[in-house]
Amino acid sequence: MSKEGSVDRRFGRTTVLGDPRGGRYPHGHTLLVEGRDAVAIIDPSLGVRARAAGLPRPDLVLNSHCHEDHIAGNSLFGSASWHLHAADLPGIGSLDAMMEIYGYAEPFAAGLRETITLQFHYRARPDAKPFVDGDRFDLGGVSIRVIHTPGHTRGHSCLLVEPDGVLYLGDIDLSSFGPYYGDAWSDLEDFERSLARVREIDARWYATFHHVGVVEGREAFVERLDRFAAVIRRREERLLEFLREPHHLDEIVRHRFVYRPQDPVPWADPVERRSMSGHLERLLREGTVVEASPGVFRTVRGAD
Ligand SMILES: [Zn+2]
Repeated sequence: MSKEGSVDRRFGRTTVLGDPRGGRYPHGHTLLVEGRDAVAIIDPSLGVRARAAGLPRPDLVLNSHCHEDHIAGNSLFGSASWHLHAADLPGIGSLDAMMEIYGYAEPFAAGLRETITLQFHYRARPDAKPFVDGDRFDLGGVSIRVIHTPGHTRGHSCLLVEPDGVLYLGDIDLSSFGPYYGDAWSDLEDFERSLARVREIDARWYATFHHVGVVEGREAFVERLDRFAAVIRRREERLLEFLREPHHLDEIVRHRFVYRPQDPVPWADPVERRSMSGHLERLLREGTVVEASPGVFRTVRGAD
């Protein structure tokens, strides 16, 4: 996005690697943490592939979650140990399990499988190691703590580097698009709880994989985080408004609440279906929306 995102930035022993495309998908910002005893690379992106020879050899690869763009550089570091949250670990163990994270039907799934293999250099690693909330990697003079923040995927985790004061947010990416919870292994309400949790973390620097890059100070972070979270509320308000007239789930999907109608996104239908089903479940439970007839929903009069 900005020129800023294209240059390396160093915070103590942590380097946020610049990306020439400013972290725009399929690219992203990778972190390198160089301790006295060990070096860790976090979410090695596609861009790392072009410059791996110039980087210190990592002993550990840490992934915030098992999505194609975040593991695209993993295969460069076959001699390092690989670490992911236990809940996402199956995805790095086999491509079949990785496909379950997304949950796409054929024929789209076959195309995605090929893309992940060829464009994102997927390599299965059945001996990758699980981490869980609270685990700490001590690299000598610097450590990385795991903060489990599910919602985007089941295992999505933020990583706090101390004493550098860098909180790596992964795909809590603070973008104007808003939170993405459109995969089979996504969960809207988990995402909301995770947003509330990271909001309380007082770091000096907050780093996202995509676009934004590095935000300085909690105040600026909270402002961006609240804007990011507000997208969830806006989607829900638009859904409630739409359902003032009864509509079938298929019509909700076609109407587009996550993507704009003109966005040429081949996977829009399943993502809209999964994302908005999460909202529907919540609204049905609260009694704000009722199922008027099978698959047809409407907002209860007076609900706002
Ligand atoms: Zn992701």
